[in-house]
Amino acid sequence: MSTIAFLNITMHGHINPTLPVVAELVRRGHTVTYHTSPAFSKEIEATGATVYLYPGGDPPLPDPPMPVTLLEGLARAAVGLLPAVLSDLREVRPDLIVHGSACPWGAVAPRELDVPAASLFTMFAFNRHVPSPTRATWELLAAAATRPRDVQGYLRSRWGLYRHYDTHGLPLLDLLNVRQPLNLVFTSRAFQPGADDFDQSYQFVGPSIGARPPVPSFPADRLQAPVLYASLGTVFDAGPRLLCAFATALAPLGGTVIVATGHTDPAALDPLPVNVLARRFVPQPEVLARAALFVTHGGMNSANEALHAGVPMLVVPQGADQPLVARRVVELGAGLSIRTQDADAGRVNALARRLLDEPGFRAAAEGLRVAQREAGGYLRAADELERYLHRAGRFSRPAPADSPRER
Ligand code: UDP
Repeated sequence: MSTIAFLNITMHGHINPTLPVVAELVRRGHTVTYHTSPAFSKEIEATGATVYLYPGGDPPLPDPPMPVTLLEGLARAAVGLLPAVLSDLREVRPDLIVHGSACPWGAVAPRELDVPAASLFTMFAFNRHVPSPTRATWELLAAAATRPRDVQGYLRSRWGLYRHYDTHGLPLLDLLNVRQPLNLVFTSRAFQPGADDFDQSYQFVGPSIGARPPVPSFPADRLQAPVLYASLGTVFDAGPRLLCAFATALAPLGGTVIVATGHTDPAALDPLPVNVLARRFVPQPEVLARAALFVTHGGMNSANEALHAGVPMLVVPQGADQPLVARRVVELGAGLSIRTQDADAGRVNALARRLLDEPGFRAAAEGLRVAQREAGGYLRAADELERYLHRAGRFSRPAPADSPRER
């Protein structure tokens, strides 16, 4: 048995897919620690892992959520958190550190402690088809020019990291793309653009979807088919206009229309058609299991979860990697996409109608559903981590057999 430490940034989209993997590793008898902020401690404790809290409470989300602010926030967080994280890890003495690909302190800690590390990609893995949002581009440079304080903050934090720690392996800029000798990607090879470009250090394990804590106030037993679902995720705040457009567009087509409003107060959408249920947070995998259509911002988890359920999507990207997800969904025929500024009730209604009426979209989503499930999910992720521990000489039991799909 081994001791495995998970380090991550504190965002739902990055933490959610790791939870079933952690629960599975605990179930197999490993000791797992998870280093996080208070907002996630209950959910993580439910997996059986031991929670170590980052100092300083729950950090705010980058505001606005764009690559430049994200980079500044990540580098600053690394400087602020590393002393406490390293001290906790010295106590934990892990055999393996597993970190999110957007977690820069996850690149530094294994080097400081001389421990093997694996990286988890909750977005697509990045290559020439899928450029990382934080890679050096003219676009990023132009955005940086408008935010000199973020640039100064980033440089200050990077200097602090460089002075105090071994930062080899930490990209100079591309902090969403921290790689290790093992990189687990939570999607299937079928959904990943250019999957053949990646070497064996990348393993496409598919969506990691396990049991989630119940959302007690959600009236799952009152949903009428066809269930139509709209959500813009947990980070971006599009405000009531766009959510109202979704509700108005979908109401005439649906049995029950569910709108997850996120940061927006559901009351701001009133008055709504009677068959629309607006809630800040809904049990998304449970809703998708019954949905005929998903209007989504195209967050990678949302897209993965929709395809795992074989649900066609109308993608309305809000930022980050979402335009890439939108493009891939359209390319594979599993949905359509529309820009936020074009997404009025009339256009959304027309596109939703096509997605419901033309069987090709459902068929393409169904094909991807098979690929997403065959990739193996959290069980395969746990197997890969155990195999890696074994190769590193940190695991006493025999390694799980190689996966036939990736040999
Ligand atoms: N989610 C949920 N209920 C909601 C909204 C979101 O369970 O009402 C979950 C969803 O299942 C997914 C995550 O939150 O796992 C959102 O991640 P994604 O990458 O799609 O978008 P982000 O929130 O990071 O923009």
